[in-house]
Amino acid sequence: MSISENISKIKKDVSIKVKLIAVTKTKSIKEIKEAYNSNHRFFGENKVQEMTEKWKLLPKDIEWHMIGHLQKNKVKYIAPYVSLIHSVDSIRLLNEIDKQGKKNNRTINCLIQVNISDEESKFGVNKDSLSNFIEKIIENKYENIAVLGLMGMASFSQNEEKILNEFASLKKLFSDQKRKFPNFNELSIGMSSDYKIALKLGSTMIRIGSKIFGQRN
Ligand SMILES: *Cc1c(COP(=O)(O)O)cnc(C)c1O
Repeated sequence: MSISENISKIKKDVSIKVKLIAVTKTKSIKEIKEAYNSNHRFFGENKVQEMTEKWKLLPKDIEWHMIGHLQKNKVKYIAPYVSLIHSVDSIRLLNEIDKQGKKNNRTINCLIQVNISDEESKFGVNKDSLSNFIEKIIENKYENIAVLGLMGMASFSQNEEKILNEFASLKKLFSDQKRKFPNFNELSIGMSSDYKIALKLGSTMIRIGSKIFGQRN
């Protein structure tokens, strides 16, 4: 099936309230244009340099989502245009995002990435530290950041119950924090292999790569 057929097939499964982020890492400009030409506007990348090159070459009405681990010294490259950073995991990073937001005279939207898997390789704030982390954000009164919710990645596993439990743990944290943080509206969970589970848990953003563009090399 073609890229545009894959997108419409996924959209059929998904409520219009859920944002589909087409993950284009390693994929070519030509492939992204095919998605763009089928009217898709939300794209995600996990590397600053690759995303910035693509942003320069593609139409400016695209929303670019940073979904990968972000280094502090690279925030400046994406600050002028990024639509949402899904992967905030430290206060130092937030301080830098706020500073770059000021320089660019804009508010940068962020999600806090929470480590919900049992894999040490995965990034994110510890589940047990999230509450403190959010207290600090509130204290810091960032003027150029809007924290809109949480992001998480389930363990790499075929075990659906395990994935469901991990997503459910994030959903619970999301609901708890939402009481303190009225701006909290976004829950970014679900990838090609597990988005159907994520949708059951109330995902508001799914990040899909291989189901749209095929396997990455
Ligand atoms: C690559 C990536 C995805 C998409 O993965 P697929 O399995 O290809 O859908 C989603 N989220 C993050 C953070 C990624 O790095």
